[in-house]
Amino acid sequence: MTLRWREVARASGLMGPDGSTRPTIFAEMTALAQATGAANLGQGFPDADGPEWIREAAVAAVREGANQYPPGRGIPELRRAIAAHQQRHYGLDLDPEREVLVTAGATEALAATVLALASTGDEVVTLEPFYDAHAAVIALAGATHVTVPLQPDDTGFRLDRAALAAAVTRRTRLIILNSPHNPTGTVLTAAELEAVAAAAMRVGAIVVTDEVYEHLTFDGHVHRPIATLRGMAERTLTISSAGKTFSLTGWKIGWVTGPAELIEAVLAVKQFLTYSGGAPFQPAIAQALERGDADIAELRDTLTARRDMLVAGLREAGFALVVPDGTYFVCADATPFLTPEIPDGAAFARDLPHRAGVACVPLSAFCRPGSVTAEALAPWVRFTFVKNEETLRTAVERLREFRFLGATPTSHE
Ligand SMILES: *Cc1c(COP(=O)(O)O)cnc(C)c1O
Repeated sequence: MTLRWREVARASGLMGPDGSTRPTIFAEMTALAQATGAANLGQGFPDADGPEWIREAAVAAVREGANQYPPGRGIPELRRAIAAHQQRHYGLDLDPEREVLVTAGATEALAATVLALASTGDEVVTLEPFYDAHAAVIALAGATHVTVPLQPDDTGFRLDRAALAAAVTRRTRLIILNSPHNPTGTVLTAAELEAVAAAAMRVGAIVVTDEVYEHLTFDGHVHRPIATLRGMAERTLTISSAGKTFSLTGWKIGWVTGPAELIEAVLAVKQFLTYSGGAPFQPAIAQALERGDADIAELRDTLTARRDMLVAGLREAGFALVVPDGTYFVCADATPFLTPEIPDGAAFARDLPHRAGVACVPLSAFCRPGSVTAEALAPWVRFTFVKNEETLRTAVERLREFRFLGATPTSHE
């Protein structure tokens, strides 16, 4: 008998080749960072909470009695704010009654969407590397995961368009996009979005797009939802969340928007996952979406500065890297530091906290074991810059020292 949890564990890297379960690489690196006193640039969550006025709005909501089940679709005021946000930023027209669904973070939106729309025998296409939850929910649905590589070049990690055309067939039920992209920091170009749209329309696939970093783009790069492309609004489910936009990742207020019939299908599953949640956080996020543009701009500015600091430090330490256009992350090629004892990014990430006092995660954690992309990106690692300046400064100084120390082990305990 195939137990579904085993499929999920295998797909998300929770299970070793011997069939035993283990902690995720993120948990392992965080534990290692703690044990060695390393600056933790592995796991990507902010170390500073979001704007105080938004947190105070949630406190007020608790006091005012927002403590029982909210409606299954989300409170009307938040659904209206989400629709208004999509209209104001992207010109997308949504009916808050029928085309907007509030979820327990983007994670539940993804799970409910894939469970509702894909099943055994269906193929679900994602980019590779991919966010771990994408692979997990495809396995949970019993569907088959097909990937399209993102390949590093001078302009960023770029979509392999020939591979996309080959991967999308009549068996393709869903194409899951993620832009701005975790882990690579890529913002898909207009031409790449057009290629995905053309592929989806060619076979009648639905596009599910994970846009949780929609506001965290740099250097004038602009996020463009694929739902805004001609012919795409009727076949796209757009997923986002307040977690990354407002540095409130623990609140788990997310949403999915799109055509009423598809939202109905997602709701049918979602109502038996959590039914509803986050009662006091929903009105606070409604206000944040309406009045939080200045906070978003400030986060974007400080993130740009933090990105620049980490990019400069990594370059000085001797890494080749791709400068990210968005997200919390920068990916770096550790090839100059690899040896027969430390042959790839996974070994490098496990060694770096001991040798340099800095933690990162290998890009192989975001790939299918043994895939072409996993091989190509085996020497690569991901660092996050969503940490305070002091942590980043410490990390950069340690990486600079690390370069001059070469292979000499050092301790930061
Ligand atoms: C953080 C993240 C999520 C999860 O969002 P939540 O709102 O916390 O559930 C989903 N997708 C990507 C790409 C992420 O980085």
